[in-house]
Amino acid sequence: MTQQHPSTADQPRVVALIVAAGRGVRAGGDIPKQYRQLGNFSVLTQTLLAFLQTDLVDLVQIVIHHDDLQLYQHALGGIEPSSLNRLAKPAYGGATRMQTVNNGLEALGTVSSASDIVLIHDAARPFVSQNMIMQAIAAAIQHGAAVPVLPVTDTVKRVNEAGHVTETLDRSSLRAVQTPQAFRFGLIRAAHLAAAKAGHHDASDDGGLIERAGLMLATFPGDHANIKLTTIEDFVMAETRMATAPMMLTRVATGYDVHAFGEGDHIWLCGVNIPHDQGVIAHSDGDVALHALCDAIFGVIGDGDIGVHFPPSDPQWGGASSDQFLAFACARLTAHGGIVDHLDISIVCEKPRIGPYRAAMLARIAQIAAIRPDQIGLKATTSEGLGFTGRSEGLAALATVTVRLPEPKKGSSDAR
Ligand code: MG
Repeated sequence: MTQQHPSTADQPRVVALIVAAGRGVRAGGDIPKQYRQLGNFSVLTQTLLAFLQTDLVDLVQIVIHHDDLQLYQHALGGIEPSSLNRLAKPAYGGATRMQTVNNGLEALGTVSSASDIVLIHDAARPFVSQNMIMQAIAAAIQHGAAVPVLPVTDTVKRVNEAGHVTETLDRSSLRAVQTPQAFRFGLIRAAHLAAAKAGHHDASDDGGLIERAGLMLATFPGDHANIKLTTIEDFVMAETRMATAPMMLTRVATGYDVHAFGEGDHIWLCGVNIPHDQGVIAHSDGDVALHALCDAIFGVIGDGDIGVHFPPSDPQWGGASSDQFLAFACARLTAHGGIVDHLDISIVCEKPRIGPYRAAMLARIAQIAAIRPDQIGLKATTSEGLGFTGRSEGLAALATVTVRLPEPKKGSSDAR
């Protein structure tokens, strides 16, 4: 059966604003830190690549310092010409970071609508991941304004001018804030203009302007790898990390699941409730597609199978919603350093028809596994009346997952 891709008409346009006008002297050297070499490319080239080499972002606007035009043009040399057509002409920075961002927003104003999503990102954070960009977009769509945060692990104290401690802060309620910070374009544009009008020009981050306007600022999980390169030590650490980064190996595994039809008025498939004149006989909700996916994911990391982690004999999984099984399998994969490249599912049944639910299924799996719907293959087939599926005694699903995993270290006992 030929099935169409889900509509993306409800997805807002996404623009990225890269803030690259800082002078960055603490990192040493005679050029601003965003133009310093890190591995094979400049820091800025790598940051731009993170936003240009993804189809999550429609347009990238950069804001540079007037004095850096030549450095900037040199940095573009590391980028394939085909990626450059989504990069707008640079805007120029102001006296403060806030004015620099404002200049970038103004440049975007001619091509953006209020409902667009804008990701505002520091050029000195080249390790921003695709996953982080995706989470930023999702958070802005849901909340209008959101910043990535990390728990503070060091104890934080307030000191006076003499360097004497005056207070120990309760770190449980403290968070360190990163970028990309994500906003509806109209919201952050208005917040910037209002702050500037009130004579406020030196906010250290854009989320702060949303707070200042009395609006809700949501958070989403930051990433420890997404460091801001500030000092010479940061560069040394980043170089070391790049040199010792493990090679990623591709792994593929399959999963298979069957449930028999029984009494009932609906079935669960790919996390979606489908009305049907039968149900399935199962301890959990009997979602064959998610169960097959779980087994495939456990397969790539050599981590048993769904029955090991969620034994049918255990009453706590009675009637359980299978989305938690898939979330658990994905978390195990992440704990192994794995990245999902692709999930592929085939559902085998005579009835119900899958077509009407296909887009919802893709969206649900993408949400649980934190991937894009276009990273999921989803097909359905009948078995031409043959066998148990043909006789409509039950339904089956096959899944194949493709992931990248860090190469195990030499001498490691890791069974991977
Ligand atoms: Mg099952």
